[in-house]
Amino acid sequence: MTEITRLDAPLVVGAGVAGLTVALGLPQAYVLTTQDMGSTWWAQGGIAVAWSPDDSPRQHADDTLSVSGGLGVERVVDLLTHGGPAAVENLIAIGAQFDRDEDGGLMLAREGGHRTRRVLHADGDATGAEVMRALIAAVEAGDRVTVIQRRAIDLVMAGDRVIGVVTSEGKKREVLLAPAVVLATGGAGRIYSQTTNPAGVTGDGIAMAGRAGARLADLEFVQFHPTALHVGKDPMPLLTEALRGEGAILVDAHGRRFMPQYHPMAELAPRDIVARAIFWQYDRGLGGAYLDARSIVDFADRFPTVNAHAHSVELDPSEHLLPVSPAAHYYMGGIDADSNGRTSVPGLWAVGEASSTGVHGANRLASNSLLEGLVFGARTSADVATSLVAPDGEPFAPKEAFDLPLVAGPALEDLRQIMWDRVGLVRTGPGLWEARSHLLELDSVLRRTIAGRVALELSLMVILAALRRSESRGGHYRADYPEPDPMQEHRTLIDPTRAQMTAVS
Ligand SMILES: Cc1cc2nc3c(=O)[nH]c(=O)nc-3n(C[C@H](O)[C@H](O)[C@H](O)COP(=O)(O)OP(=O)(O)OC[C@H]3O[C@@H](n4cnc5c(N)ncnc54)[C@H](O)[C@@H]3O)c2cc1C
Repeated sequence: MTEITRLDAPLVVGAGVAGLTVALGLPQAYVLTTQDMGSTWWAQGGIAVAWSPDDSPRQHADDTLSVSGGLGVERVVDLLTHGGPAAVENLIAIGAQFDRDEDGGLMLAREGGHRTRRVLHADGDATGAEVMRALIAAVEAGDRVTVIQRRAIDLVMAGDRVIGVVTSEGKKREVLLAPAVVLATGGAGRIYSQTTNPAGVTGDGIAMAGRAGARLADLEFVQFHPTALHVGKDPMPLLTEALRGEGAILVDAHGRRFMPQYHPMAELAPRDIVARAIFWQYDRGLGGAYLDARSIVDFADRFPTVNAHAHSVELDPSEHLLPVSPAAHYYMGGIDADSNGRTSVPGLWAVGEASSTGVHGANRLASNSLLEGLVFGARTSADVATSLVAPDGEPFAPKEAFDLPLVAGPALEDLRQIMWDRVGLVRTGPGLWEARSHLLELDSVLRRTIAGRVALELSLMVILAALRRSESRGGHYRADYPEPDPMQEHRTLIDPTRAQMTAVS
């Protein structure tokens, strides 16, 4: 018999910036989270917001749209940028401390794709940790949010409605039923062998939503960060974009600067362009890629996180060139959701990196995702609060949720390598088909565990979406179709077939 518990308030799955913002906006909420830290903790550069008197939400929206490969949804982008200043004020009101200048004004950095300085930061390059500290303090200061540490494995349905989740604590399974379920489980960078994403960012929520038949969107659009420290670590330490904003340049092994030949904005070109340029440096044998940040004064004080990463491998950024490679970093794709977090399935909301609202289109503007969690998190709370339905009817869930062990074996590492080699920065039709057949060879092994099943299902859907898009746009680059095709200037929507469900007993 599976234990079933009925919660009297919405259940938010995920405790990053998006999940905690949703929970804090509700009169009562439960937050379910694994012990793994999500991406928010690691965010470095900061939060993009139109704060300076020389800036405006309109300009921020224009910059967001101009890097989005034509797929940014203007109405949703406007909500993000216009909601930005108030969202940041709320964060400051609950105690978040951002870096300030001598006059007490907030310091604003410039990052790639932004035409002006508009990125708030904390402790130099430890913004995410400060955001999490402030949100957790707010949760702990009240008694409205109850945190449950467990992994969600699958959604529970009654008819067409989501009414809860199957959770796991080791081998034990328990079903939690709730009047609303919000997925804020973050992105899916861990399906790639080279990623900046920490261990918990496995795409669970996206896979779960797909099994429940929720529409998924833009799964082919993965953002590869250009500059991860290339020293064999997993996750790869990020070298924040702000370094280039402060004057760091990219050079080859001979110290020659190479970005100006790829784009007029050179090192500050949109991420996908910089990432591909670095990829070519390796792939075409052009002498690799190094970040030269030696011109940045007071490096250790201004970028303590990067400084610590570099020193951990005996590199000193003020003296040495830092070897860099691109790495899977942010997922524009995810669960199709509107600007209130509503998905195509009643009872289910999605927010933050797990969702795909069209706010980033085919390519995210740097530092827009913490803001996304704040702005759309608050909007989702407001919508959830007025849409609660007590769970009713016989609960069903995918059978495998109850049978399989959690942790995957070495086949998962094979999958990650295949995804990096064939479904990474530069894709081709034959390469994608090859990736698909390699993954199908691993199918039966991967499906023996919860983690393997998630990675397999998600990777196959990414490949399908990448095959369908026979053009290059934003984060999706097809060497066999290197140009954008105006006929394909639309989002990719996938309606997955709902998994076979079994009655929860
Ligand atoms: C190194 C790095 C630097 C970055 N720098 C910036 C930056 O400077 N500015 C910016 O805007 N963005 C940055 N980003 C991106 C940004 O951090 C993320 O997009 C954002 O934090 C995502 O927030 P989230 O709340 O959606 O997910 P996350 O913060 O990833 O949180 C997901 C939560 O879900 C939980 N979870 C996942 N699966 C399950 C499950 N099955 N059951 C229960 N719980 C689950 C996790 O434990 C976690 O609590 C960076 C990302 C990385 C990796």
